Amino acid sequence: MTTLRNCVACGLCENRQNIVCPDGDVNSPVAFVGEAPGKREDETGLPFQGRSGKVLDALLNEENISRSSIYITNTVKCRPPGNREPTKEEMAACLPNLKEELQNRRLIVALGRTAARDLLGREIKLADELNKLTTINILGKEIDMIATYHPAASFYNSKVKDALSETIRIAKKYLEGYKTASTIKI
Ligand code: SF4
Repeated sequence: MTTLRNCVACGLCENRQNIVCPDGDVNSPVAFVGEAPGKREDETGLPFQGRSGKVLDALLNEENISRSSIYITNTVKCRPPGNREPTKEEMAACLPNLKEELQNRRLIVALGRTAARDLLGREIKLADELNKLTTINILGKEIDMIATYHPAASFYNSKVKDALSETIRIAKKYLEGYKTASTIKI
């Protein structure tokens, strides 16, 4: 993301307080990708702060995974006004940044339908893709990917938390050294 600083490649630059930079281990084999920064993220410049971040941290803690051992980012690095969904044009403008971030991962976890759609390059029904292992091409490399709910969705539905817990367990297998999709039992 050599071009991120002072980026004005899309209109989201106009209202941001901060470009929200990725967090965690830059060399982690596992990357979590959310949709977009919210108010707290815009204020701090860090992804997954506030209530969603607390949910994600709690889920990670349940599996003894520290936030510092994974890589956390968003499809767009600047907050859409009013927390609206980023447009396809905004996501396309930021996609080169995202690809650069993800090119050396072993597993990409898309948190929410919008992030999954951006990474898969097609419309999806999240329920049909939930925690299913697939492979995507990032800058010529085949990388495993799963789609799951955004942590914010668990505020209103306890079943979402169960699905997210399963997601974290899958991610843990990659963190613990499973090398290829053929060795992963999910
Ligand atoms: S969202 Fe991405 S492409 Fe748009 S201004 Fe921010 S960093 Fe640049």
